Amino acid sequence: MSIIHAIIGYGGMGSWHHRNLKEHVPGITVKGAWDIRPEAREKAVEAGLIAYDSLEALLADPEVQLITIATPNNFHKDLSIAALRAGKNVICEKPVTLNCDELKEIVAVAQETGLLFTVHQNRRLDKDYRIVCKAIEDGLLGKPYFIESKVQGSRRAMHGWRGYKVNGGGMLLDWGIHLIDQIMNMIDSPVTSVDGHLLSIFTPEVDDNIKLTLKFENGAVAMLEMSTNTLINAPRWHVTGTEGTLQVDNWQCEGKIMQLKEDGAMSWADDIVYTAAGPTRTMAPRPAHTMVELPLPEVDSHWSDYYNNIVDVLENGAKPMVTHEQLIRVMNVVDLLFESAKDGAGKACHI
Ligand code: NAD
Repeated sequence: MSIIHAIIGYGGMGSWHHRNLKEHVPGITVKGAWDIRPEAREKAVEAGLIAYDSLEALLADPEVQLITIATPNNFHKDLSIAALRAGKNVICEKPVTLNCDELKEIVAVAQETGLLFTVHQNRRLDKDYRIVCKAIEDGLLGKPYFIESKVQGSRRAMHGWRGYKVNGGGMLLDWGIHLIDQIMNMIDSPVTSVDGHLLSIFTPEVDDNIKLTLKFENGAVAMLEMSTNTLINAPRWHVTGTEGTLQVDNWQCEGKIMQLKEDGAMSWADDIVYTAAGPTRTMAPRPAHTMVELPLPEVDSHWSDYYNNIVDVLENGAKPMVTHEQLIRVMNVVDLLFESAKDGAGKACHI
């Protein structure tokens, strides 16, 4: 028996959920959708769904067991609570809410009703991210201590409702939440300080070019960057560990790992090296023959695994891939990053 599912907000992501589920997840059947825009409801009908006449009609459909909420961010809290109160299991799009207090309100209702409430943090399944996790898990880098994760676009202003404060727009709540969720699930250690630089360069109301630093108790430092005006991209990932360096160049997941050869340790030479940029001893380039190049590890990951986990949760009582505790940790860090950006000062914490 397939789980009967409905979607609230049939825009870009709502229709993506429908297509992805139809193609890859036989355990879930999308029955219908509700959207405030008539043209979005028409699209849902053209795609073979029932379009409900109202939110209330969707919530009152006794067949629907699971709802995905894919509206602009400011509606997530009220819609999640309404759906839980109507007896439905809920998957909410990211960012779950605009701050941690709102999230805690939803979690309280989920605990009271005993229904599933989770969030579509699908980028934990991205291939580039899984590659970096695997390289670290396999010990290919030793102890990672500087982790740079960057997504750089060039369309300048934030798109549509993402440009407005009232909708919970801005880059920190849009892509920031993905990169923070990824890094906090990669590094198994509490966050001990955060520092946020949120610039509004092309979008007056909200942040559109941001740099975030998260320091972890185990000594690792993550530097996250998201921009909308980069015309020459830096690598997607650059990770420095005690035993190796990893780079994922781009979205195609090209890149490599470099390690030292067993006999590759080099003592200091007194000589100054002259480069085109100027003289250096500390940064003298290492001869290629002292290093070994490894390919990035192979990983097997698909976004539909997110929904396969949901089926497992609802049918077999499995643990959700994205838990309340993880969500609360991430939203606490987001709250603190907003504070840090406002004060212009880093914030100590233990999250
Ligand atoms: P969108 O503008 O394309 O679609 C939003 C839809 O919601 C629109 O059709 C709009 O009419 C409808 N809507 C607005 N208010 C509503 C309400 N109160 N009730 C019902 N419908 C309403 O936006 P999008 O890009 O699809 O983003 C939707 C959500 O998905 C956001 O929270 C966004 O952050 C998230 N998202 C997640 C990912 C991801 O990778 N996980 C990617 C893109 C977007």
